[in-house]
Amino acid sequence: MSSIADNIRNVRQRIQKATLAAGRPADSVHLLAVSKTRSADEIRTAAAEGLTRFGESYVKEALEKVQALQDLKGLEWHFIGPLQSNKTRPVAEHFEWVHSVDRAKVADRLNDQRPADMPPLNICIQVNIDGEDTKSGTTLTMVESLANHIGSLPRLRLRGLMAIPNPDQSAEQLRQRFATLRQTLETLREQHPDWTTLDTLSMGMSDDLESAVTEGATIVRIGTALFGARPKPAKTSCETMEHNP
Ligand SMILES: *Cc1c(COP(=O)(O)O)cnc(C)c1O
Repeated sequence: MSSIADNIRNVRQRIQKATLAAGRPADSVHLLAVSKTRSADEIRTAAAEGLTRFGESYVKEALEKVQALQDLKGLEWHFIGPLQSNKTRPVAEHFEWVHSVDRAKVADRLNDQRPADMPPLNICIQVNIDGEDTKSGTTLTMVESLANHIGSLPRLRLRGLMAIPNPDQSAEQLRQRFATLRQTLETLREQHPDWTTLDTLSMGMSDDLESAVTEGATIVRIGTALFGARPKPAKTSCETMEHNP
């Protein structure tokens, strides 16, 4: 058995244990396999173990893999990285989800560029949950107006919120961050009882998935615990550059 297969089993057990401990229904947390920097063959191995949702952060690299894996039916591609407005078109055309929308301009372009023959693009608003000015994500106070804007765009379907809390804080602080994201989603749902698709909290990674599930995560985004440590991507400088509006 390959080690990816062992890792998948292990991560599934962690999710299942945390879900049960939280008293949540067994199937209420989806595993998104974060495959950035990983090869198409590694994704094939994971798909053979039954994983269907894959998360990518770099547009060019992602498109190569989407292309190479076209023969695999039923894969669902999620874009989770910082998205520059000049790179929205291929994302609108090839992905099912974008977790990292943090401004109206990117939402407008995804809406305009989503092909008419595809279902609406599923969207999460990325929230800068620690309030750090160097990070991507909209502020907590801006969530409502951005949600209202996205809700008015017919080719997008607002599904919920995403956050990447700073990992350099205690487990208790991290859990507080996740709780804040959950409360923000609950407030939105109360304000918009007509938005029936607002069902997603995208939070929790390899090191903190248990806290995230305890606080209501519906999608955990797991890379390292499935595929092992990542090689450092050459593109890191672009990744950090993009976030200052
Ligand atoms: C890389 C990445 C992950 C996965 O992180 P791991 O610690 O490897 O599980 C999750 N979410 C986002 C947005 C990422 O960029």
